[in-house]
Amino acid sequence: MAGSSSTSTNFDLNSTEIKSLATAAIAAKTHAYCPYSNFRVGASFLTNDGKLVSGANVEVASTPVGICAERCALAPLVAQYERPHMPRIRACAVSTDIWPPASCCGMCRQMMREFCELDMKVYMYGRQESQNYKGLSAERELEVCGEPAVMTMGEMLPMSFGPNDLKH
Ligand SMILES: [Zn+2]
Repeated sequence: MAGSSSTSTNFDLNSTEIKSLATAAIAAKTHAYCPYSNFRVGASFLTNDGKLVSGANVEVASTPVGICAERCALAPLVAQYERPHMPRIRACAVSTDIWPPASCCGMCRQMMREFCELDMKVYMYGRQESQNYKGLSAERELEVCGEPAVMTMGEMLPMSFGPNDLKH
């Protein structure tokens, strides 16, 4: 493939890229701080300038103050860049411990919509089997966790209100 350009974004990841993205989300799940729900979530984003960032859900005793893994990953990514620069985001992965795989909550979908294009895919990983995952590496969990649910940003948030709607 001719070198990637900042003006075009390929939303179709190759198998190596998907593996890296998924492994990052699964690994991030181990950093979840969720003493109240015990519901671990990891998320990762891949940009077209090659950055792979991840985050985990962070809960606090005052429940509404906590943050989801997707926004935990996305906000620092955005804040790495001087305005108006912002890479295009090629894909997102989310990892939880349930089956079927959990999807992003509505609040995260709206924040992702701000920075992710409608054709971008979200790969949602769960844990298909009731086997013991304890002690498995993220790479090994990816091998046994089952196929991800995959949806585009546009499918996850149809008729969305986004940045373009405020540009007149
Ligand atoms: Zn969320």
